[in-house]
Amino acid sequence: MARYVGPVCKLCRREGMKLYLKGERCYSEKCAYTRRPYPPGQHGQGRIKLSEYAVRLREKQKVRRIYGVLESQFHGYFQEASRRKGRTGEEMLALLERRLDNVVHRLGYAASRSEARQLVRHGHVKVNGKRLDIPSFVVRVGDRVELTEGAKKFKFVAAAVAGADKRPIASWLEADRGSFSGSVKSTPVREDLNEPEIREQLVVEYYSR
Ligand code: SF4
Repeated sequence: MARYVGPVCKLCRREGMKLYLKGERCYSEKCAYTRRPYPPGQHGQGRIKLSEYAVRLREKQKVRRIYGVLESQFHGYFQEASRRKGRTGEEMLALLERRLDNVVHRLGYAASRSEARQLVRHGHVKVNGKRLDIPSFVVRVGDRVELTEGAKKFKFVAAAVAGADKRPIASWLEADRGSFSGSVKSTPVREDLNEPEIREQLVVEYYSR
């Protein structure tokens, strides 16, 4: 599946919040949003009143960008969630959260989701003992995720583990940092996500218009 490869700090500035797309840099003084907390472009510092549609669009873009998913795949998550019994917004977030790249990031072995995606894509992640190189793979309760022997020696993995305490803890996962592995304890529910600034109902309204 394709992915966005353009400048990412612009995305945070556009969405008006830190999306934590660059790993360590996001927690430092160098963060572009900390230095310039207004939208990019010539009119970034002007006042703009958003329409109702624009508010919903921005929320959808924000969630999509947090998880690093392009539009067609993201819409697919919404459609899948709307077929499920629970609240569509929460079901959609639970599906995104269970993506393998997100799980590797949440377990602390990658400083950002894009770093985690690269680990998965390059075959450095095993699920239940087998290499799996599909970042969008959705994990299930009981699955065991671990890094390959080679990946355990990567400097950026060590750096990610060292900085893991700064990032939100995923209570639905259990990490064993000593063996660079982790397991899925339960299906994530909304409170487990630690993403208070996501207003998923607006995303549902965007697609239901
Ligand atoms: Fe966003 Fe991180 Fe760039 Fe800051 S450093 S603007 S949080 S991607």
